[in-house]
Amino acid sequence: MNRSEDNPSQDQAISPAPHQEAERWFGHDVLPGQSVSTELEITESYSGRTVVIPLRVFRGMQPGPKVFVSAALHGDELNGTGAIRTILGDDSWKLDAGTLLMIPVLNVLGFERHSRYLPDRRDLNRCFPGSKDGSMASRLAKVIFDAIVKRCDYGVDLHTAAVRRTNFPNVRANLDSPESLRIAEAFGTGILLHGSGPKGSLRREATKAGCVTIVVEGGEVWKVESSVAECMSRGIFNVLKELDMMQGEPDLPDSQVMIRETKWLRAERGGFMSMHVAPGDSVQKGQAIATNSSLLAEDQNRLETPFSGIVIGMTTLPAVQPGEPVVHVGRLANAKSVRRHARQVAGDDVQRTAHEHLATNIQVTEPTDQTE
Ligand SMILES: [Zn+2]
Repeated sequence: MNRSEDNPSQDQAISPAPHQEAERWFGHDVLPGQSVSTELEITESYSGRTVVIPLRVFRGMQPGPKVFVSAALHGDELNGTGAIRTILGDDSWKLDAGTLLMIPVLNVLGFERHSRYLPDRRDLNRCFPGSKDGSMASRLAKVIFDAIVKRCDYGVDLHTAAVRRTNFPNVRANLDSPESLRIAEAFGTGILLHGSGPKGSLRREATKAGCVTIVVEGGEVWKVESSVAECMSRGIFNVLKELDMMQGEPDLPDSQVMIRETKWLRAERGGFMSMHVAPGDSVQKGQAIATNSSLLAEDQNRLETPFSGIVIGMTTLPAVQPGEPVVHVGRLANAKSVRRHARQVAGDDVQRTAHEHLATNIQVTEPTDQTE
């Protein structure tokens, strides 16, 4: 593989006004106003074939930032793949400025196996920025990092919850960094979760290297959920609008909440969980979240939220053992913030649809009266 043509320093060397000239991406010259389907060679398969990441490069007529949008970095997380493919199949929008890389599947080796992980069982999203002489995962990470991340100014990395869980759409970013906060807010989910991400994750290492990257989480593995994909598509366009790469104003909810503390409520007993909340629900301190009962429907114990907040994610598998995660709650300051969150979800078509739709994946029941 010859990657020298993707050397980022070459752009500056070609011309003093690179926006007027072709940009070289993965062996293609991409002119202003063009879009090109291409691929990045990343490794070789067991049978010795070249393995590639298919992607599409768009250039606007005007100069502007370079942005990548990636999905399926965990190879089983496909909602973002659905969102990107919808945008790729839609010719009603136009990139006015800058360069956009759309990558429906970043972890093609995991994707081929319907798996989160690489064939060596490593998590690609813990291997960035990677190394030339390292493990298979580490080498892959390095190729992606050098050819894509280092050449971009911003990144949007689309994920879902892990297997057997679902998430209400939310953005994760370092909210203490003004530029990360700007992109996180522009994406337009009602929930913004603060954090830099785990060591070796794409967003953490990309942001550290100067490519401000946010993570978006929504829905489940192994499916494209229309309401989540819609939320992601809107967010991608919102970010492009915020960066003046597309015309128009971002379509944002009335308010957004920043969450800095979350807690997984865990099962205390083995048994079957009756859920009393759905993803995206607002909850008040002490509210019943789920009731654990035996298979014969005899109540064993009840989980209550220790603080007021939002149901960010939850299990979709009602059978639990002690210690297993049931509901992931994000803390809000007070009851007023909780009510405001509920209003903003109800007032935003895209989030309201996701809220209604994700609730249908889970049997949600009212808690029964419990005598002490
Ligand atoms: Zn993921």
